[in-house]
Amino acid sequence: MVLTPHLSDSDPGIFSPSRNIFLKKFLARNLLEFREKTEASKYRTMDLIAHIPWIELHAVDHCNNVCRHCNQRSPHAFRRDYAPGDYLPWLDKLDTLKASFDQINITGGEPFLHADLAYFAGAFRRRFPNKTIVVISNGFWLSEDAYAAHEALFDSINALVFSIYPNIAHFHGGREAMLAKLGRLKERYPGLEIITVGRTEFYPISFHAQVAPPATPCRWADCTGLLPDGRLARCTVAAYAHIGQTPPRAASARTAPPGSLDPLALSAPLDSRDLYFDLHGDLTGLAAWRAKWPLDVCSRCTAGSAGPLPWKAGAPTRRLDYEAEYFGRLRTVAAPERPGSDPWNVF
Ligand code: SF4
Ligand code: SF4
Repeated sequence: MVLTPHLSDSDPGIFSPSRNIFLKKFLARNLLEFREKTEASKYRTMDLIAHIPWIELHAVDHCNNVCRHCNQRSPHAFRRDYAPGDYLPWLDKLDTLKASFDQINITGGEPFLHADLAYFAGAFRRRFPNKTIVVISNGFWLSEDAYAAHEALFDSINALVFSIYPNIAHFHGGREAMLAKLGRLKERYPGLEIITVGRTEFYPISFHAQVAPPATPCRWADCTGLLPDGRLARCTVAAYAHIGQTPPRAASARTAPPGSLDPLALSAPLDSRDLYFDLHGDLTGLAAWRAKWPLDVCSRCTAGSAGPLPWKAGAPTRRLDYEAEYFGRLRTVAAPERPGSDPWNVF
C-alpha cells in the first residue's frame, strides 16, 4: 500500500509490519491531537469565543411615558410582562465555553411596571450570582414607599440607571427635586450604584428604502438584545422598529425612490441577515455575528445621518392608567415602619 509518493510498505526501514502498526497508532494519535488543536484554534481564529459585554432584555414592552421617537416603540407596544423563564434558557446557553457575557440590562418599556420585578430580577441574580445586573428606569415611581417596597429588588441588583425625562422630572417637582429623591435612595441603599442620564434630546430613527452605510458607529453599534423567542438582536432599535408601524405593503412598494420614506422599509429589520442570531441552534458563528458592524440594515437606517431633536412627549404625555396600577400594587406591599412623617410620600 502506498502511503505517500516516496514511502511504501515495501520499505523495510520504516514500514515493516510491526512498525507499520506502531506508525498507524502514532499517526492516529497525532491526527486526533491535530484535530483537537484545529478545533481549538478554530474557536480562536475563525469562530472566536463570543464575548458580549452586556445583554439587554425587556421586563415589559410597555411604558408609562409616551416619548416621541421612542427607540423601543414602547408607546405602541401591547402591554406584556415577561417571565424569567422567557430568557433564562438562552442566557444559560450564552454562559458556556463558547460564549460569555458580563452584564444583564433589564429594560423595557418601563421595568417598574412589571407585576413582580423583584422576582424577575432575582431569578437572574440567583442563576448568575457573579454577573452585573442593571435596571434602567424613567424613575416615575420614586418615593419612600417605593424605596421600602423594593428592598428585595435593590438588594439583588447592582445598579439603577435613570433616564431623566423632562415630564417625569416635572412630576417630581423639577430636575433638582428628582435628583434629591435619588440622593435619598442612595442614602438608603449605599451599595446600589445610581447613574443618571439626561434625556433632553432624541434621535428620530427610521428605516427607509435606501439611505447609506453609516460612516461612523452609531450609539447602538455595540448593542446586543435578547428577545424572548430565543433570538439575539444585534440592535434593539431595529429589532423593535416594526411595533405599531404600518404593516409591510405589497412588494411593488420596494420601487420607492432612494431616500424616500418607505413603510415597506420596516421589513428591512425583519428581513435582515445580520440583525438576528437564533439561539435554537448551536453557537457556531456567534462570535463573527457579534463582531460585525455595520449590519445590512444599517444602510437603511437614519441613525448615522439624523441629528438629535429636542425631546417631546406624545399625546397623552403619560399613561396614567399604568402608573395608577403600579401605585395601587405598591400600597399592597407592607412597608416597614419608619420614624416620623415622610415628605417624599407621593400618596
Ligand atoms: S421612557 Fe420614553 S424612551 Fe423610555 S421606554 Fe418609555 S417611551 Fe420609550
Ligand atoms: S445604524 Fe444600525 S446599529 Fe445603528 S440604530 Fe441603525 S440599524 Fe441599529
